[in-house]
Amino acid sequence: MGSTTDLHKVDFTSNFQNIINNALSSTPETRQAVDPSTEELLYHVPLSKQSDVDRAVSFAKAAFPAWKELSYDDRAGYLVRYAVAIEANLSGLQELLMKEAGKPVSNASGELAFAIAHVRETAKLRLEDDLIEDTEERKASVRYVPVGVGVGIVPWNYPVLLGLGKLGPALLTGNTFIWKPSPYSPYTALKLGEIAAQIFPPGVVQVLSGDESLGPLFTAHPEVAKISFTGSSATGKKVMAACASTLKRLTLELGGNDASIIYDDVDVAKVVQKIGPMAFMHSGQICMDIKRLYVHEKIYDEFLAAFVQVVKSFKVGGGGDPEAFLGPVQNKMQFEKVKDLYSEIGKQKWKVAAGGEPAACEGTRGFFLPPTIIDNPPDDSRIVVEEPFGPIMPVLKWSDEDEVVKRANNTNMGLGASVWSNDIEKAERLARRLEAGSTWVNSHFELSPYVPFGGHKWSGVGMDWGVVGLKGWCNTQASWVRKKF
Ligand code: NAD
Repeated sequence: MGSTTDLHKVDFTSNFQNIINNALSSTPETRQAVDPSTEELLYHVPLSKQSDVDRAVSFAKAAFPAWKELSYDDRAGYLVRYAVAIEANLSGLQELLMKEAGKPVSNASGELAFAIAHVRETAKLRLEDDLIEDTEERKASVRYVPVGVGVGIVPWNYPVLLGLGKLGPALLTGNTFIWKPSPYSPYTALKLGEIAAQIFPPGVVQVLSGDESLGPLFTAHPEVAKISFTGSSATGKKVMAACASTLKRLTLELGGNDASIIYDDVDVAKVVQKIGPMAFMHSGQICMDIKRLYVHEKIYDEFLAAFVQVVKSFKVGGGGDPEAFLGPVQNKMQFEKVKDLYSEIGKQKWKVAAGGEPAACEGTRGFFLPPTIIDNPPDDSRIVVEEPFGPIMPVLKWSDEDEVVKRANNTNMGLGASVWSNDIEKAERLARRLEAGSTWVNSHFELSPYVPFGGHKWSGVGMDWGVVGLKGWCNTQASWVRKKF
C-alpha cells in the first residue's frame, strides 16, 4: 500500500460526479456553477433526479445496520483516517474552494483547517448512556441510538465546514450520511465524497449534486430519517413543513442578525481591530457575522471613526489575489439581493460612514461590493431589521442598558450576540439577557467542535456540534431493567 498522500490524490479539475455506494456516478444532464470572482462558468456537475436520490438512499439504508454495529472507537478511527486523507489533498481542495465560493486565500485555508480539525476533534467525542436510577429492584437508563439515513443540506457560504460539520457527528453516532451541497458550490463536496469513498464502507458517505429541486426530494423521501439543514430561515420553514409528512428528525441552522453591544469602557483602538473582521468576514456572508453594532453614545464618534479606518484597510479582491481579505458576494442571486439593500442608501438618505452604493464597482467582473457602514440609521430601517448577508452593516448608538437589550432582542433572529466591556461581570450579566443560541463576551467568533452551535427563535431548531449535537443525530431510548420480580 502506498503512502497516504499517494493513495488519496484526487483530480480537482475534472470528473465531478456523484458519489453513490463508493462509485462515481454520472447523470444524463449536467449543470455548471459560476466563479463569483470572474463570473466564468466552472466545471460540469451532475443534475441528480429522483432515481439518483432513491439509489443513494437505498444504499445508505443497506449500509446502516453494519455501520451502527461498529464501536464508537471504530467509527472514530474511520473519521481520523478521513481527516488525514483530506489533509493529503489540501492544496487541490483549497484552489477549488477559492473558485467556487469566491474566497480569498486566508478565508479558504481557514475554513479547510477548521473543518479538518472539526472532523478530528469530533472523533474524540463520546455519547455515553445516562444512568438515572440503579437500585436493588431496577435500573433505569437513557441510551442514544442512531436514527438511520441522515441527509445534510448545506449552503454556499462555508461549503466544506458546514458539510463536514454534519458528516462527523452523523457518522460517529452510527448513522449513514448523504451530503447535498448548494447548487452554487457543489465542487469541494463532490471531491470530498470521492476522498470519502476511499475510506468508508460503501453507502456510508454519499454526495449528490443537483439544482434547487434536489433538496425537496430528500425532505420528502420516506426512508430518510433525519435532515440536518443549514440555510436561510425562509427555506428552513419549508424544510420543516416538508419533513412533517414523514415525521423526520430535524435540525435547522438558519439565518442570523447578530447584535454586538459595546460599552463605553473599552479600549476603542483594540476593539475595532477585533470587530472589523468579525463584522465583514467573508464579505458579511457568515450567519454569525456581527450584523448590528450598538456602540455606547459616549464613545460613538471615536469608535465609528476608528472602525471606518479598519474597514477601509480591508482589501477587496478575488480568489487569485493573495492580499485580499474580502471576496465577492458568492452568487448573482445574492448579489442582486444585497445590491437592492445598497440602493436604499439614497432612497432612505442613510448616512454613509464608509463605502456606499456600488456604482464605483461597475464595469468590473465578479460580484464585488464595497464594504459599507451605515451611521446610526433608524431602528426600523431595512439595514437593521433584515439579515443583509453582504458587506453592509449599521452602527447604532445606545445609552441605556435596558433599552439596548430590548433593541438587540427586537428581532425574530436569535443566532449569536456579544457584549464588549472591560467589566467582565457586567458584560456577562448583560449577555445573559440576550436571546441567542450563542453569547460571547469580548468576542464574537468563538467556536469549537465540543460546544453546541445553533439558534433561538427563527435562527434554528436544535443545535449542531458537541455532545448536544451528537444527541441530535440519535433517538433517545429509555431502558428499564427490573432486577427483582
Ligand atoms: P438557502 O436556504 O437558499 O439554501 C440552503 C440549502 O438548502 C441549499 O443546499 C439549497 O439547495 C437547499 N434548498 C433550497 N430550497 C430547499 C427546499 N425547499 N428543501 C430542501 N432544501 C432546499 O440558503 P443559502 O442562501 O444557501 O445560505 C444563506 C443562508 O444560510 C443565510 O440566511 C445564512 O445566515 C444561513 N446560514 C446559517 C448558518 C447557521 O449555522 N445557522 C450557517 C451558514 C449560513
